[in-house]
Amino acid sequence: MRFAFVDNRLIPESLLKENPILHRISDIFSISPQPLNETFTYSSELQSFLSGRSLLLDEIPTSIEVVHEHYLNGYVSYQKGVEERLCNRCGNNSPHLFASFSCSRCHKTCTYCRNCIMMGRVSECTPLLKWHGPEPVPESPPTFQWLGSLSVAQKEASNRMVSAVNTSKDLLVWAVCGAGKTEVLFEGIHKALQQNKRVCIAAPRTDVILELSPRLKKVFPDTTIITLYGGSEERNTYGQLVLSTTHQLYRFKDAFDVMIIDEVDAFPYSYDDSLQWAVEKARKPDSSIIYLTATPDRKTQKQCAKGNRTFIQIPARFHRHPIPLPRFVWCGLWKKSLKKNRIPHPLKKWTISKLEQSKQSLIFFPTVELMEKALPLFQEMNPLIESVHAEDPQRKEKVMRMRNNEIPILLTTTILERGVTISNIDVAVLGSEEKIFTESALVQIAGRVGRSADFPKGDIVYFHYGRTGEMIKALLHIDGMNKEARKRGLIDGK
Ligand SMILES: [Zn+2]
Ligand SMILES: [Zn+2]
Repeated sequence: MRFAFVDNRLIPESLLKENPILHRISDIFSISPQPLNETFTYSSELQSFLSGRSLLLDEIPTSIEVVHEHYLNGYVSYQKGVEERLCNRCGNNSPHLFASFSCSRCHKTCTYCRNCIMMGRVSECTPLLKWHGPEPVPESPPTFQWLGSLSVAQKEASNRMVSAVNTSKDLLVWAVCGAGKTEVLFEGIHKALQQNKRVCIAAPRTDVILELSPRLKKVFPDTTIITLYGGSEERNTYGQLVLSTTHQLYRFKDAFDVMIIDEVDAFPYSYDDSLQWAVEKARKPDSSIIYLTATPDRKTQKQCAKGNRTFIQIPARFHRHPIPLPRFVWCGLWKKSLKKNRIPHPLKKWTISKLEQSKQSLIFFPTVELMEKALPLFQEMNPLIESVHAEDPQRKEKVMRMRNNEIPILLTTTILERGVTISNIDVAVLGSEEKIFTESALVQIAGRVGRSADFPKGDIVYFHYGRTGEMIKALLHIDGMNKEARKRGLIDGK
């Protein structure tokens, strides 16, 4: 296969002979997919790179000649990146998220997608490539190395997941914070891998993916596991088990037999239709999605209550203690107090008692500004008190120091509402009536307390100036889970 440059575009010479006036590379797309030539010796490099993916030419390590030869033999297909105001990579179809420019490649006014521009520009004349040949087959059956054991509730959820995987059904796993949901996934993943299925775990935050990766590599030592996030080095390898941030899913298509979506309620996944579209695009038509959440949104909770959604609850923590219930404490016009350089009295009293008991604590603030304003006031009580927020360059270090018990009290924004596990802490929220503290945020924050088996109890206080519906829903949510756990005999004691 030879290519020629025409007006700065690469066009196969054979096409030029048939149609000498080719002015648009998109004419290549008009060629219908070729039948699979089974005697063709395909490149296993291209196979492992492109299987289940949807990529730009620039993202592929092999030359365009090799790619086009595979196209002619039916192993690769081309698709227009943007077609009739729909982006085929990210699913964007909002008119304001497209822009047009005078394109030097297709010599037309060409439309490109602004929604996924950070992954390289996709326009009407940009081909997306897809693999149509056989999928790579793992060389050896997967080894499963895990010696831990599951609680009764975990085991039940694990069995349900196995049957969802076997029957290609979807399942929602609604597990309280600290339930031990990762362990619940092991058996289902193992069963899927045994059947040569390709599995993906997607989570909205890079931290979660990075934390999961070493754990899964230990449990499945012979499985190719790749970890994808912005800036990851492992883009070029085929993974039987793929750990990915939700954004990286845009590069997959018809790839996975089993998809596990962690923190399905968490930003940005729940707010971004195009990410949901990406999940649908990345799964195979006959596949299973396992959704994990501690705090399903209202709509999902209603679906569960009405029986319109297949779900399993893990209402108890693995250590069989109930989740501490939040207390509501009125703290007056706390913003005014801060303005006058005073910590609202009830919170000050709470803080002093924690310092006296040497009990490590987290105090959540609704905004960075209010927190920064309050920090010096807290440092007057103890100079080791620190604050942390999303853009803080020392964020990781501060969390580490908190874990090492070098910080007595850490002020934080909602950035630490999820994922952070510090043994034996108490938690306060200042201004829990603020909009940012939704039911889900408040449940997650309360979920920081009492996580370890050695310290299953703790104090969680919502300091407020007028209780809100969200605060009450959060309390009822936690109480409801504890009741359900008692009913099912998953909690010890009264
Ligand atoms: Zn797009
Ligand atoms: Zn163009």
